[in-house]
Amino acid sequence: MRRANFLHPCVRMKTSRLRARQIIFAFGLAVLVLGGKRPAVATAVACDSGPGYIVQWGDTLALIARRFGSTHTALAALNGISNPNRILAGQSITLPGGEDCAQSGGAAATHVVRRGETLWRIAAHYGSSVSAFAGTNRLSNPELIYVGQRLSIPGAVASAPAAAGEIFAALHLSTANPEQGRTLSLSLPVAIITNISGTLGAGEILFFSEGEHYYGLVGVDALAVPGSVQLSLHANDGGGASYHYARTLTVVDGSYSYEDIVLSASVTDLLSDPTVTANERQLLADTVSPVTVARYWQGHFQRPAGGGITSDFGTRRSYNGGGYNSYHGGVDFSAQGGTAVRAPAPGRVVLAQRLHVRGNVIIIDHGLGVYSALLHQEQIYVGVGDTVTAGQHIGEIGATGLVTGPHLHWEMYLGGLRVDPMQWTQVALP
Ligand SMILES: [Zn+2]
Repeated sequence: MRRANFLHPCVRMKTSRLRARQIIFAFGLAVLVLGGKRPAVATAVACDSGPGYIVQWGDTLALIARRFGSTHTALAALNGISNPNRILAGQSITLPGGEDCAQSGGAAATHVVRRGETLWRIAAHYGSSVSAFAGTNRLSNPELIYVGQRLSIPGAVASAPAAAGEIFAALHLSTANPEQGRTLSLSLPVAIITNISGTLGAGEILFFSEGEHYYGLVGVDALAVPGSVQLSLHANDGGGASYHYARTLTVVDGSYSYEDIVLSASVTDLLSDPTVTANERQLLADTVSPVTVARYWQGHFQRPAGGGITSDFGTRRSYNGGGYNSYHGGVDFSAQGGTAVRAPAPGRVVLAQRLHVRGNVIIIDHGLGVYSALLHQEQIYVGVGDTVTAGQHIGEIGATGLVTGPHLHWEMYLGGLRVDPMQWTQVALP
């Protein structure tokens, strides 16, 4: 039933119930969740339809691997994780030895270990014994269980799972016709679901939960071909049953305008020199790829500068008479040098430095895979690690990098994809 072929090749991710209270807690949470003792190696395999471990706050793949006597490369390979830095609380991790079970689709009921529980208490709750639990779950040491670990309940059979139609009946999409370059949001009541993941075309939907809902965000590529695109969702309940949903949406044209750019020979030479551009591009891509398990913003984003807009996001661009096969990846605000640059939303500064092409750049992590990049500044007043508030004066507009005059270029990234920032100032997402 796994539809790995529909998933984005970079990463598979499932998110958890991310209640607001827990988000705040997550900032300061230490790594291990089990009562203090540094565990020896444990083996645990939940032989049901679900994999063996649910990622907890503060976990890394390396820590999970060490806990279960594996390596992060083995877990990454087993779970199809191409970037081991991108795992999220709530994500299911199959443990070595669990893959055969995971394919079986069996319907044994499972228990996900919660904070403060012991195997004795769990066994008592189900009227079972520690040895039965240890045997069923192949636990070599019954004292070593972990918050998030899935345990098969000995002798239990799951009650009939709900129908997928019931689970997804209250699914809400911001639009069934997402536009090129713009963000689609989804919401779904948590109900009995313990995790959810999904894709829109090749794009992974970033899910989180607050209150009684899951929320999802996904961007449409600015150059996506208008027409049909498949929305696929996968959810699981606490009993290990899985639910699938598919629907065809229609990508519509983003109504972008066209621009002809003439570059001097010297600039063209510089931009065609990969040693100048590739490192910088890679630095940006690496900076905006982690998905922070917290949301720092609420409601609308603000414009980072007061001046008029001289070039919209998505504008199709032709360079020196060539085809219109690239686009403007941000919004340009014109203003005199020295005009204030303000943070568009709260977040944490993850890059603040001078780059050759982009000049003085600040990148702010707004959480949940959403980032702002503010380019070509004359001065930058914040450093990496600083937290910023919406509207905070963080720099001055300038003409640093490869530009012809002072302006601020604002880019927004969602799951590594550039999306139209102005949409985020007009509607509250999600
Ligand atoms: Zn620009």
